[in-house]
Amino acid sequence: MDVGTSPIKKATLLSNFINGKSRASIARETLSVTNPSIGAEIATVPLSTSQDVDEAVRTARAAFPAWSAMPIKERSQVNFRYKTLMEQHAQELAALVQEENGKILSEAMAEVEKSIEVTEFACSMPQLVAGEILEVSRGVECRIDRHPVGVVVSISPFNFPTMVPNWTIPNALVLGNTMILKPSEQVPLSSMRIAELLKEAGLPDGVFNIVHGSQAAVEALCDHPGVDALTFVGSTRVAKIVYQRATSHGKRALCLGGAKNHLIVLPDAHEDMAASNIAASMSGCAGQRCMAASAMVAVGQVDHIIKKLCDEAKKIIPGKNLGAVISRQAKERIERYITEAENDGAKVLVDGRGAVVPGKEGGFFVGPTVIDFVRPEMKIAQEEVFGPVLAIMRAQNVDEALKIENNSPYGNAASVFTQSGGAARYVIERAHAGMIGVNIGVPVPREPFSFGGWNESKFGACDITGKSSIEFFTKPKKTTIKWNPESRVNWMS
Ligand code: NAD
Repeated sequence: MDVGTSPIKKATLLSNFINGKSRASIARETLSVTNPSIGAEIATVPLSTSQDVDEAVRTARAAFPAWSAMPIKERSQVNFRYKTLMEQHAQELAALVQEENGKILSEAMAEVEKSIEVTEFACSMPQLVAGEILEVSRGVECRIDRHPVGVVVSISPFNFPTMVPNWTIPNALVLGNTMILKPSEQVPLSSMRIAELLKEAGLPDGVFNIVHGSQAAVEALCDHPGVDALTFVGSTRVAKIVYQRATSHGKRALCLGGAKNHLIVLPDAHEDMAASNIAASMSGCAGQRCMAASAMVAVGQVDHIIKKLCDEAKKIIPGKNLGAVISRQAKERIERYITEAENDGAKVLVDGRGAVVPGKEGGFFVGPTVIDFVRPEMKIAQEEVFGPVLAIMRAQNVDEALKIENNSPYGNAASVFTQSGGAARYVIERAHAGMIGVNIGVPVPREPFSFGGWNESKFGACDITGKSSIEFFTKPKKTTIKWNPESRVNWMS
């Protein structure tokens, strides 16, 4: 497949994107951006300061009055053009994602397609936000209009350099907000191309801005009085800190965190469907998905499914149909989890440690790993590993399996594999997670259904996509109107 080449210049040092132009950061500190498949530096990213953040916030504030005053149908036209441009440049965007994130090309392309789907959803915003109006008393009407929140910030993780920024960009912009994106410092390139495409689509300068960096930039964004709302996607540890910091300054915040997703497998599950789904779920994007299956609870006698699953896992080859993990530290961390589980008495059925891809010896690869007889109190059963590793725990019955699932502090996703509608319903009702799959290993809701977990996987009230995002990115204004004096007087008159 011809992946195309990106016009993004991988300058030694990337710039921020402010007021429609590249703008050098004043930061002295920088970080290397590495291609994880080969372990080579591809760019350098500035760790922007509070002064850089201040300039971006002032710019977004200055752009807000004109952009928010534009009718939504006009803002939506910019989004239509952005969607078309993403489609035209899909291969190039996928190539960028592959280069900076290390996932395989088909996964990078799937990520771009999901970005396009979210953008398509935002094209329907004018229909979705058409107001409500009702005559509430004789001659008196109430109406609700949706107003943008103001300047909103979107902070993203490394694992989806195009999709996660696009969870917020189209919806927030069409609804009339102006924006600052703080991409992951590990994958800053895709976002620069997104900025260029938005500009080409006709987005006025200053409406969308990018500030690169890490902790200092995020803290400055949380603290800045010119920011009205903030979304965050990343690990639970940071999501909690960011949520508390932003809300302590009176900002609206929605912070999505990490995950530990349980797949409950019952003996009547369809063997081939379960095995191939679970193998794909644990290894897709090298297990670096907040929706990845990282724990399987085998209920009763399901050894035939585990055997088939191992056969499927052995067909997943690093560098071929399995991408790299993001960094050397990530590879070492994942392999440490496997070794600790083995030392604690678990049985490694498929071992991905020490994977090396010929010709890509500098890359950070971990092969698919299946570990059986993991006990719920082990570290690998409790913590997010974020690699292509499946920890299998054994349970006597569905209630015991649900207890294991319910005990996790996370609550992003859970799945059940069975051919019994009754058993599936029992799990759907009792699993403590925001997104549930039935015979589906990665139950990501497609648009228009919204995305968001429960418990320590999400801090804040709304979901980040779908109709729920309208609640987050707008404020309802309720107006009560009377024009004529009425003969019939009541308490409303
Ligand atoms: P991360 O938490 O390390 O980083 C996320 C963002 O926070 C980055 O932009 C980073 O620069 C910034 N950051 C890092 N440390 C910070 C600090 N101390 N203070 C303020 N900001 C800080 O996450 P990551 O490693 O980039 O991404 C992987 C994590 O993201 C996993 O836990 C995964 O489950 C999670 N994730 C969750 C979802 C979801 O929808 N729930 C989606 C994708 C990824």
